[in-house]
Amino acid sequence: MSSIFTKIVNREIPAYIVAEDENYLAFLDINPLAKAHTLVIPKKEVDYIFDLDDESLAGLWIFAKKVAKAIDKYMEGEAIRTGVAVVGLEVPHAHIHLVPIKNITDIDFTRPKLKFSYEELQNIAEGIKKFVVL
Ligand code: 5GP
Repeated sequence: MSSIFTKIVNREIPAYIVAEDENYLAFLDINPLAKAHTLVIPKKEVDYIFDLDDESLAGLWIFAKKVAKAIDKYMEGEAIRTGVAVVGLEVPHAHIHLVPIKNITDIDFTRPKLKFSYEELQNIAEGIKKFVVL
C-alpha cells in the first residue's frame, strides 16, 4: 500500500504544495508546529531517510535548502531562520521537516500543533512558492 505521502505525490489526496521537481516534493505539514512548517520528501517511497541511496539523499537536502531559503524570505521578520528535523516515527516515507523558528521551543515536537484555516494554508503555500528558485 502506498504511503500517505506517495498519495500526495500522485495527487490522490490534496496538499498545499510549495515546490516540486522531478524527484522531490515540498508541501505544508497538515499539523504544523509553526507557520510555514514544511515537509520535503523524495518522490521515491523509502521509509527511513538513511536508506536512501547517496544521490537521492544529497538531492533531497539540496532541494530542502532551496525550499528553506524560500521559507526564510517568506517568514522574514517572523522567524530568525529555518530549523530542520528528521523524525519519521509517524509516516513511513522519508521526509525532512523545515520549521521556521525564533527559539528552541518552536521546534519542540511535543508541543501542541497550530491550527490554520484552509485559506490561510493556501496563502502560506502561495507565499512560499513565490520565493522558490529551483
Ligand atoms: P514524523 O513521521 O516525522 O514523525 O511526522 C510526520 C509529519 O507528517 C507530522 O508532522 C504530520 O503532521 C505530517 N502529516 C501526517 N499526515 C499528513 C498528511 O496527510 N498531509 C500532510 N500535509 N502532512 C501530514
